[in-house]
Amino acid sequence: MLIGILGGGQLGRMLALAGYPFGLRFRGLDPAPDAPLGQLADLVVAPYDDSSALDRFVRDLDLVTYEFENVPGATAQFLSERVPVFPPPEALIHAQDRLFEKQLFETCGIPVPRYAPVSSPDDFARALEQVPLPALLKTRRLGYDGRGQARVERAEDLPLAWEQLGGVPCLLEERIPFDFEVSLLAARSRSGELAFYPLVENQHTEGILAISRAPAPRASRQLQHLAERYVRALLERLAYVGVLAVEFFVVGDQLLANEMAPRVHNSGHWTIEGAETSQFEQHLRALLDWPLGSTTPRGHAAMVNLLGTVPPIASLLAIPNAHVHLYGKAPRPRRKLGHVTVRADTADERDALVRRVLEVVSLPAPVSI
Ligand code: AMP
Repeated sequence: MLIGILGGGQLGRMLALAGYPFGLRFRGLDPAPDAPLGQLADLVVAPYDDSSALDRFVRDLDLVTYEFENVPGATAQFLSERVPVFPPPEALIHAQDRLFEKQLFETCGIPVPRYAPVSSPDDFARALEQVPLPALLKTRRLGYDGRGQARVERAEDLPLAWEQLGGVPCLLEERIPFDFEVSLLAARSRSGELAFYPLVENQHTEGILAISRAPAPRASRQLQHLAERYVRALLERLAYVGVLAVEFFVVGDQLLANEMAPRVHNSGHWTIEGAETSQFEQHLRALLDWPLGSTTPRGHAAMVNLLGTVPPIASLLAIPNAHVHLYGKAPRPRRKLGHVTVRADTADERDALVRRVLEVVSLPAPVSI
């Protein structure tokens, strides 16, 4: 069985690592010749819209998935005429545009922060009427890890914020004074089987994920049920196949959806050691219509991202129950180079291990737990 992966980053690499024990083979497509998947699988190096490269990529594939959501819609369409593509391209199209994404959430009955589209200066006044300040202006497309966002504290800030973001179509979104942030990872298989992991509590540094802890220390059973209800609606509406991650803001006992990723997700890396079935294996099971695996956590886990620099590996491995993953990427400020997962029998022990990891890891801005 040969599986094509659009994108050759660390997510693709970890998908391949999860598939090898099953005898699966992988081929990636990525414009970067040094993409991490290329170190362990066949990699076609070409832009996503290069039709002769797409012909080479798709040859002999049994199915295609993606680990990167900014793959052009036309590429997913071209491939889906030749081979099954999962998750469905419709999920990709919604996740690529913050306006379509929010409209999809609303269609599924999922609350979102108040927002308004801002495509030209003509929209400023109406957007400011609809969205309370302080707010964030976000580009509709191609924003990630806190990029493509500007703060709008006062009405006068909006024109400059829009110019700073390049005058492209944006959304103005109210800034939510959330209690904390969570994500729910879920899977739906081709025959409709569903699985949900426990909620993950996420902490960011400068808009980039820094720490994920699971099960989420502050999430109640009711919050878990609410998140599952919302994500089930999305999975069914999209006839989704694969792993889906949805990020939420928690305000009291309410959840507001921030964004979704139609793929395996950084806030699910803890599942490699911290759950019976990793998100990567789960995604493959869903795609191949195999029975989904148990999402039961193995105790309490946490993941810390290695951003920009990697400390000496020995200093991380000296920490009990620390599992180190390096992606084979060249260091660059803020870049995700690897992660460390710790696991313990209790939440307190887990947090003590996280503090030890944070003593040796330098993040762009300090994060404490
Ligand atoms: P995003 O790229 O939209 O996921 O934003 C990255 C991070 O910025 C989020 O995880 C939050 O920590 C923060 N953020 C984004 N949107 C909002 C919002 N409407 N209110 C408060 N914080 C936000």
